[in-house]
Amino acid sequence: MNGKIPVGVLGATGTVGQRFVQLLAGHPWFEVVVVTGSERTAGRPYGEGVNWKMPGEPPPAVAQLIVQPTEPNLDVGGEPPVVFSALPTAEAKEWEPQFAAAGYAVITNASAFRMAPDVPLLIPEVNPHHTALIPAQQANNNRRGFIIASPNCSTTSAILPLKVWQEAFGLEAAFITTLQAISGAGHPGVASLDIMDNVVPYIGGEDDKLENEPKKLLGAVSEGRLYPAEVKLSAQANRVPVIDGHLASVSVKVGRPAGVEEAIAALEAWQPPAVCRQLPSAPSRPLIYHHEPDRPQPRLDRDAENGLAWSVGKVRPCEVLDLRFLALTHNTLRGAASGALLNAELLVVQGYLRR
Ligand code: NAP
Repeated sequence: MNGKIPVGVLGATGTVGQRFVQLLAGHPWFEVVVVTGSERTAGRPYGEGVNWKMPGEPPPAVAQLIVQPTEPNLDVGGEPPVVFSALPTAEAKEWEPQFAAAGYAVITNASAFRMAPDVPLLIPEVNPHHTALIPAQQANNNRRGFIIASPNCSTTSAILPLKVWQEAFGLEAAFITTLQAISGAGHPGVASLDIMDNVVPYIGGEDDKLENEPKKLLGAVSEGRLYPAEVKLSAQANRVPVIDGHLASVSVKVGRPAGVEEAIAALEAWQPPAVCRQLPSAPSRPLIYHHEPDRPQPRLDRDAENGLAWSVGKVRPCEVLDLRFLALTHNTLRGAASGALLNAELLVVQGYLRR
């Protein structure tokens, strides 16, 4: 196996699953050996069953794999066996605990267990120490494996500036308004007649995710318990006719007075936790501050640092709260597959996955 960790991808034919397959091709630590799908594609070679939407062709080594049914008896190998999950929420809710019970390490993009108190909701740049919840999760659920989750792609877009200012000034409240890309709805997603020339001010469950997930990400973990951050959040999510890239417009009440220059300086001086330097996919510049008044923009900024950067701009005073900013991330990369891949790399460095 050339020294790489063999992995499976659950829901490998979908929007996020294809991103996993694309990103894992040539990864220095992981190699895809199993792919799963629904009844629609199971039993067929991946290259035939997938409606490939990434540039180029599916990687040849994966294209020839036979798509397996999504069941926790996959022959992935490895100890623990590792699966990336890009399953729809309902299927994730059913299958992910069964995989964890059967001993698999489940690294998921789905929302089903993000808010479970003992499931780490993880971004290496924000809360790498939350993996300390894993032993408690295994004990609480009597499972040999475990689940770790990536946050919702819209939460991801807003979270890093909030984290930086929480550390620098304290954080009391925020209004978060998102302008979210259509690829966030999977494929085929929103009908073109609904989204072209339009803004849809409703994405099922998204406002709640934006109000709950940051409290977990910004919270503390101590002795196997999570203590959510005490911050008030009010969110409004909108779908806009952009293909990739979620933009968050955020107003913030901080814990102590902070001027605009100080707030920008905090963003520009911020350094990721030291462990991030050991992750092969980690971007060299995870937070890029734009001083131009018309940035960030999805088309110009979503691909920065291979789609892994937060592009931030327009820090200004807020007459209602204290400060405001715009932040943009690529929803299927930083907000989904690449973010989950970074989480897997973190688990290797921290010893939860073995090379
Ligand atoms: P998607 O394009 O609809 O893909 C769904 C995948 O799940 C396909 O591979 C599909 O297989 C498989 N599947 C569907 N029903 C199944 C079943 N009954 N049993 C087994 N497999 C089944 O969805 P997506 O956008 O990639 O989203 C996947 C997950 O990631 C969701 O939980 C979503 O909320 C989350 N997420 C998405 C984004 C984003 O930007 N798109 C961002 C963050 C998180 P077939 O092709 O064989 O039917």
